[in-house]
Amino acid sequence: MTSADPSTAVNALLASRLRNAQPALWTNPARQAQPAAALPALGRTISLDDTKAAAARLVRFAGLLAEVFPELAATGGVVESPLLPAAALQSALGMAANQGRLFIKADHSLPVAGSIKARGGMHEVLEFAERLALQHGLVEPGGDYRALATPQAREVLGRYQVAVGSTGNLGMSIGVVASALGFQATVHMSADAKEWKKDRLRQRGVQVVEHAGDYERAVAAGRAEAASNPMCHFVDDEQSFSLLLGYSAAALHLQKQLAEQGVAVDAEHPLIVYLPCGVGGAPAGITFGLRQVLGPHVHCFFAEPVQSPCFLVQMLADSMQSVGGHPSVYDWGLTNRTEADGLAVPRASLLAAELMRPLLSGVFTVADDTLFAHLVQVLDALGERIEPSAAAGFSGPAMLTGTTAGQAWLRSTGIDAVLHQATHLVWTTGGLLVPDAQYQGFVQRGRAVLAAQG
Ligand SMILES: *Cc1c(COP(=O)(O)O)cnc(C)c1O
Repeated sequence: MTSADPSTAVNALLASRLRNAQPALWTNPARQAQPAAALPALGRTISLDDTKAAAARLVRFAGLLAEVFPELAATGGVVESPLLPAAALQSALGMAANQGRLFIKADHSLPVAGSIKARGGMHEVLEFAERLALQHGLVEPGGDYRALATPQAREVLGRYQVAVGSTGNLGMSIGVVASALGFQATVHMSADAKEWKKDRLRQRGVQVVEHAGDYERAVAAGRAEAASNPMCHFVDDEQSFSLLLGYSAAALHLQKQLAEQGVAVDAEHPLIVYLPCGVGGAPAGITFGLRQVLGPHVHCFFAEPVQSPCFLVQMLADSMQSVGGHPSVYDWGLTNRTEADGLAVPRASLLAAELMRPLLSGVFTVADDTLFAHLVQVLDALGERIEPSAAAGFSGPAMLTGTTAGQAWLRSTGIDAVLHQATHLVWTTGGLLVPDAQYQGFVQRGRAVLAAQG
């Protein structure tokens, strides 16, 4: 190893597992039990007030959303997902009865976008629409935002463009919402984006621009094109506060759902949350919100594919001042190739990484075969249809209870003594809109993996 090697200063076993694309767990030595109320990120600070403002914005727009999206009429324009008890899945995951209770947060069923991107993506488009609407006098502050559904208002918004670079799901959320409000919508897609996602967007009047490279290249191309157009708002997945805060609003709703289901979160009853991570914005927003509203006894872990652990390598770089910088998974000899297309990101968001430094409990990686096996087990035990990316969190409990690093973490936090009273919450992040033929292919692969495991 040379001195420039990014793995020299980290635990050698972890480094070798990462390099060899084997499942690995990193726990965060810099996590703080009592972080500051306002946390620094990319030169500004974020606090719970920002999360509350995002939640309030979603409420202001609910009436309009119920009008433009028929699928939201029943909930009055509220985009939310259930918290589902998942005891039926515990034995399939190898969780013993004395290792706590399992729930899933079913964002795979979020309407309109079909993924967790409904939260952040919708919020950012609405924030842009709100700014324009107030500027152009289309609505009064505190007024009825359904006025934005009128042809006159749509004509004004139609002068503006909303653009985004995406592997797929963010594009689906931004594109569909922007176009429904009357904006011109452009989605720059990477080569790994699925054909059916592009088709769906085009059907909704969204312009899809295809790029030969990976996710980063699609984002860079979109950013460059948008920079030359003053009427264009570019949704920047790598550094957007609006996206992150839209995601964070999920915490306020989850807090209510936990209370409704009688789930306590305290020293005797820790809550451990497992979140699939791509660029990091969605899981970081949610982790930020959860740490603010639930305190020190909620522990958040990010889950990444073994070939795309961009957040993990960023956390390692941050903890090693000799290295620092903004490494990519390619620097670690990895391919960034995974069937979890929502997570196929080579380099983490620095906004998310800085914000997570004092908040996050850890990051683990998971092999694609395991994603498919868990996807099938979720179907068989719960009847829920999730996509491969959304399965990443299900390895979490076993990573904590069944690995040396996990067991050390459980001991060092004292959670080992109360594990039987812990709640494990796996965030399932996408699936609703996956076409049946695609989904059946996922199931077949998962059944083959399970059969091979015997
Ligand atoms: C985007 C996405 C994630 C992760 O969100 P990031 O903000 O990219 O970290 C997880 N699951 C699915 C299905 C996604 O589409």
